Amino acid sequence: MTITDDTITLSRPHLAPRLLFIDGHWRESATRDRTDVIDPSTGSVLTTVAEAGPADIDAAVTAARTAFDDGRWSSLPGRERARILHRVGQLVRERADEIIAVESADVGKPVSLCRAVDVITAAEQYEYCSALAQTLSGSQRDTPLSAHAYTRREPLGVVAAITPFNFPLVLSSSKIAPALAAGNTVVHKPSEDTPLSALLMAEILTEAGLPPGVLNVVTGTGSTAGEALLQHAGVDKIAFTGSTAVGRHAAGVAGRNLVPVTMELGGNAAHIVFDDADIEKAIGAIIKGFVFNTGQFCMGGPRLLVARPLYETVLGILAQAVPGVPVGDPFDPTTVVGPMAGDRHVRKVEDYVDIALRDGGRIVAGGRRPDLSGTPLAGGSFYSPTVIADLPNTSRVVREEIFGPVLTVQPFDTEDDAIELANSTEYGLAAGLQTANVARAHRVAAKLHAGIVWVNDWAMLDPAIPFGGIGNSGFGREYGPEGLDSYTAVKSVVISLD
Ligand code: NAD
Repeated sequence: MTITDDTITLSRPHLAPRLLFIDGHWRESATRDRTDVIDPSTGSVLTTVAEAGPADIDAAVTAARTAFDDGRWSSLPGRERARILHRVGQLVRERADEIIAVESADVGKPVSLCRAVDVITAAEQYEYCSALAQTLSGSQRDTPLSAHAYTRREPLGVVAAITPFNFPLVLSSSKIAPALAAGNTVVHKPSEDTPLSALLMAEILTEAGLPPGVLNVVTGTGSTAGEALLQHAGVDKIAFTGSTAVGRHAAGVAGRNLVPVTMELGGNAAHIVFDDADIEKAIGAIIKGFVFNTGQFCMGGPRLLVARPLYETVLGILAQAVPGVPVGDPFDPTTVVGPMAGDRHVRKVEDYVDIALRDGGRIVAGGRRPDLSGTPLAGGSFYSPTVIADLPNTSRVVREEIFGPVLTVQPFDTEDDAIELANSTEYGLAAGLQTANVARAHRVAAKLHAGIVWVNDWAMLDPAIPFGGIGNSGFGREYGPEGLDSYTAVKSVVISLD
């Protein structure tokens, strides 16, 4: 199926079977096992990938270890590493159509979203980290000792980068770019559901001039490949993004092995609409906050809290607007909501909607799969954007991470009530508020338990702005200079002047 408009002509790619990328070479797994990669728009097989086992993980970590220890990357001047990383950013822009086609087919992401967000963010990650690589430095310390004292920022060694299914390109870039900028080497295991862009990026990084062994990409399941990587004694840092349950396990392994770790985990953000908000603007942000990436967005805003005087008005507007959000083929440039990443994700959403009905929820929009029978998308994993009102705050639908295009809406009476409801979650990744009152914006932002707070919009993200969670959303920060810091260790050098 090819869809054309003035700006985009993209068709589903025909993809050859993919191999593992270890020590600069493409190779089958030791067992020669392979797994199908499914197109979630149609349910058909896109291609197959090699399924890595412990022997392949060991080969990848060994290659990364050798590449780190012999200094082929870590001892390059920062400016030289920067030159290669900047070239990666350029190549991502030059090869954007190819990347978009692969990512959209693999994840079900609308091509328009992939072009505007994923590809640009990935390119900017490499470009931004290229700049950071040139400025990575320690500092001189004033001390009463008779000594010249200074700090050095040194790379950690071999980084295990493990990522989830929902933003494969962005999340692999947000780990690989800073890890490499700091001089580390990397073994990357993407999600088994969406492994394709990571393999394409290995090709692009090689084309940009990255020496062999510095980046290794191993595809495979979490329980086998992921676990083997997590447990490997040759890993010096674990950078994990995924669910809170798996993150808890990964942090436990890191604790036992005393390996530094960053944990980017689940979220369940509240989006507060105060009675002084610009409603028209707020509605755009609310809808973006829960349909973006088909709701498979850790920083989505699935819990809407509305000042009671506006409650029914906002529900009325959502009831009109949400059914009009275009759901369909991700290769259609007008599509806003594509499929979920697979049928198990849709079934999970269906289970939550059943719970909502049992808990007294009122379905204001959606609440079912769209009718795509008789179309090429009939076998796809689609779910209509759904708005549910009137749920008690004790409902699991409000309290748990659904990770689909579902918005719950609750009323509140006072500013303190809004803050209390917003913070009544174990998660703490993102939060947001809509208000015209600047003092209230600062006051409430300071009280929300979250790693990032947006005011009067949603999902404003940039490689320069750190993000990460607290509580069950994890710890550590990605993006910004803080993101780079987590891939380095500080060494102090103290030279006697006597
Ligand atoms: P997941 O935890 O199931 O899987 C994440 C990764 O961990 C995958 O690569 C998987 O193969 C691997 N894995 C699974 N078991 C493992 C094990 N025993 N050892 C090592 N690796 C293992 O998550 P998912 O379903 O792919 O992604 C959705 C989750 O990710 C949601 O909870 C979402 O909120 C979260 N997420 C968080 C952020 C963030 O920045 N905080 C960003 C995106 C997604």
